[in-house]
Amino acid sequence: MTQEPIKIAYLYEDLMNTYGDSGDVKILRYLFAKQNYTVQVTNISLDTPHFDANDYDFLFFGGGQDFEQTVVATDLPRFRDTIQAFIEAGKPMLAICGGYQFLGRDYETSDGTTIAGLDILPFHTVFKADARMIGDTKFETEWGTATAFENHSGRTYFDDATKLKPLGKMIEGYGNNPEDKAEGMRYKNTFGSYSHGPLLKNVNVAEAFAKMILKTHQERVAQTANPA
Ligand code: GLN
Repeated sequence: MTQEPIKIAYLYEDLMNTYGDSGDVKILRYLFAKQNYTVQVTNISLDTPHFDANDYDFLFFGGGQDFEQTVVATDLPRFRDTIQAFIEAGKPMLAICGGYQFLGRDYETSDGTTIAGLDILPFHTVFKADARMIGDTKFETEWGTATAFENHSGRTYFDDATKLKPLGKMIEGYGNNPEDKAEGMRYKNTFGSYSHGPLLKNVNVAEAFAKMILKTHQERVAQTANPA
């Protein structure tokens, strides 16, 4: 019997992939290959006619430049409901930088344009003229210390801190913004992060994601075998 592959939906892989964010997906592929799983990665983009997040075990959304974000913003709303249902079901998602910004209310860019987000999670992102946040980062996560690289002008602020928790506590660098000493966010098993590098080069973090993905995979396979 052929084994059902682990299915990853890579949102706008062709448009949202700054600073090697696709490395996150490559690392997961490597970890799963070691456990003899095959991995199927599907680019969900402008020319995708239909997307049901429930067909996948993991959603990945990479970072992007402001221009690409304006293009993605015109198409993304058609996937809002399926992404929201996936998130609310507690399935794993990782969104980096520009992808992270899209999960919130909106992103006000340097030229004053407001790029609408999916408004699934209670945070928003704004540009402030004084400094772009660039450099190496180090932060403490629930799985141990992680290091990465950030390069963003958007500053992200939680609007309802009771619903979200940071992915990490900053040791070096900015993370979400210069004030909060927090990097990224967690809501159920959905994570946002400003970490390039890629983030999953941190083996402790990658293994935590692999575990969450495997659990969702097993549940999906069981569900397909015995539909409700
Ligand atoms: N364009 C966004 C910003 O500058 C995101 C950048 C990125 O994804 N690297 O904040």
